[in-house]
Amino acid sequence: MSASNAAAALAALTDDAPAWLPPVDHWEIARDGDRWIVSGQLDTNGDTLGVDDARRLLGPIAEQSGQPLAGTSHLITARFEHFAVPVSVWYLRPDPHWTTPEQCAACPAKLAGTGTAFVRLGEGDRNAPVLCVPCRDRMHSEWILAQHAPLVAARRSARKFLATASGVERPEWRQLITGERLVADVDGIGPVCTDDGHEPLDGNVYDCCPEPILAVDSPPLGAYVVELLNTDNGVGERA
Ligand SMILES: [Zn+2]
Ligand SMILES: [Zn+2]
Repeated sequence: MSASNAAAALAALTDDAPAWLPPVDHWEIARDGDRWIVSGQLDTNGDTLGVDDARRLLGPIAEQSGQPLAGTSHLITARFEHFAVPVSVWYLRPDPHWTTPEQCAACPAKLAGTGTAFVRLGEGDRNAPVLCVPCRDRMHSEWILAQHAPLVAARRSARKFLATASGVERPEWRQLITGERLVADVDGIGPVCTDDGHEPLDGNVYDCCPEPILAVDSPPLGAYVVELLNTDNGVGERA
């Protein structure tokens, strides 16, 4: 079987793909001993395809050709012939050591290759954070605690107040100059003013600015409270 025979078989296969042929990521023709063969890599949909799905997709090839699926748990190959040229479609399982990060996303625990139990947040997403199981358990119990914390009730009623006072349940906060005192530095905090005429870097308070304006004399303390409020805006139920 020559290279041109294999190329012709591949052209015929791709021009008029049989219904039982699964999506293939790329094809190649290669010498195998004294013959030429065609092989293709099963489309793994960005490495999200699991072993079971690969078997399901390759199964119809085996049924049709009568050649059972071959390989290991890492590499599965389905074989058939097309115009007397041997063709295979293979699936290589992503190496778990490669997809498991070195370290837990929330603590220094080493993960890859250590046998440490871990969970992946987000299904089928290779870049999703991976946590060690102790971190998962800790976060879960913290979450349970947090649901009953006074903070939850306080946040809820404050958001209700802010919706009335500033028009927004979860305003973005800034440090500002209240104008109440003769100070050159910021002496208060308030919601970010979204008025078109208000320069974002202008720390003064005008008629356009939303309430409430709170006096916080210490600039470092004001910066801290602004950070806390803005961080907390990302927590809890969506407005
Ligand atoms: Zn951890
Ligand atoms: Zn303003």
